[in-house]
Amino acid sequence: MVVGSINIDLVATSSHIPFVGETIIGTDFQIHPGGKGANQAVAVGRLGYPVHMIGRIGSDAFGSQLVANLHSAGVDCSGVAISEGASGVAVILVSEQGENCIVVAPGANAKVTPRDVDANLAVIRQAGIVLAQLEIPVETVEHLAEVCDRERIPLILDPAPARPLSGKLLQSVTWLTPNESEAALYCGANGSIEAWEDPETAAQRIKSGGSNGVVLKLGARGAFVASTKQKGELVPAFQVRAVDTTAAGDAFNGAFATALMLGQSPGESARFGAAAAAISVTRPGAQPSMPTFDEVQELINSHSVQAKSA
Ligand code: ADP
Repeated sequence: MVVGSINIDLVATSSHIPFVGETIIGTDFQIHPGGKGANQAVAVGRLGYPVHMIGRIGSDAFGSQLVANLHSAGVDCSGVAISEGASGVAVILVSEQGENCIVVAPGANAKVTPRDVDANLAVIRQAGIVLAQLEIPVETVEHLAEVCDRERIPLILDPAPARPLSGKLLQSVTWLTPNESEAALYCGANGSIEAWEDPETAAQRIKSGGSNGVVLKLGARGAFVASTKQKGELVPAFQVRAVDTTAAGDAFNGAFATALMLGQSPGESARFGAAAAAISVTRPGAQPSMPTFDEVQELINSHSVQAKSA
């Protein structure tokens, strides 16, 4: 079960990012489905595991497009409600030098309330794992965490975009999964690099904030998994040629949750997540880049063959 954001990304490319008041002719325009919630739901659906999405779309033309896209990835959208007004939109300007500037207008995502969680309680109770992020109001995530705690459903919280979180919320989180810049906020490193030289210390510092387990997503270095019981474990990244790292973290979270559901250990699940994310960075786009189960398994198998013959 994923509770989170559903966005449409409108991407215009031009020779440079326009100055204030300037109008320029662009060179390309593309529309992509996005939003961390929807990306993570598609990651699970593409792996072939049953997944429900709870969220909101607007009453505009983008809304129906976004739901159709989720359906086509196998995501059950019976928990996606329609709010009068705009869907969540990210307006993205990209220059030919690769710079960007982005305005996210949350639209319907800002209207996902604790009541939406309660309205879907029966389905949430049946979930094996709940995945959430921070692109919907934090009160809704706090309420969801209370429900997961009460119903004893593991909660994986991707704290993105990063913001300070209450100890009460963190205590209800089974796995907190920050990337490097988000983790800097939660381990009090003020963005300093020092903590990253020792992920174990960083993970312990973050866990002291309340969450039970932590997965640090370390980009091309891989991931560091620290559960309550064991010492942390570094899961190296799979060596691939990256072309677009958009939504690598979402591919990781969807696959990590799927592997946990299949009974794999946290370390094995992080390896499955790292393999799914590695495939996703070799392909352009967010949701179109999410791999199937067989593709992930094939990458893992090819690496264990290499490790055995090394
Ligand atoms: P986010 O996308 O949330 O910022 P990361 O950049 O840490 O998170 O990426 C998530 C995961 O994707 C990493 O933990 C790693 O396993 C994998 N990954 C990211 N970049 C690469 C890369 N260049 N090569 C291989 N794997 C990668």
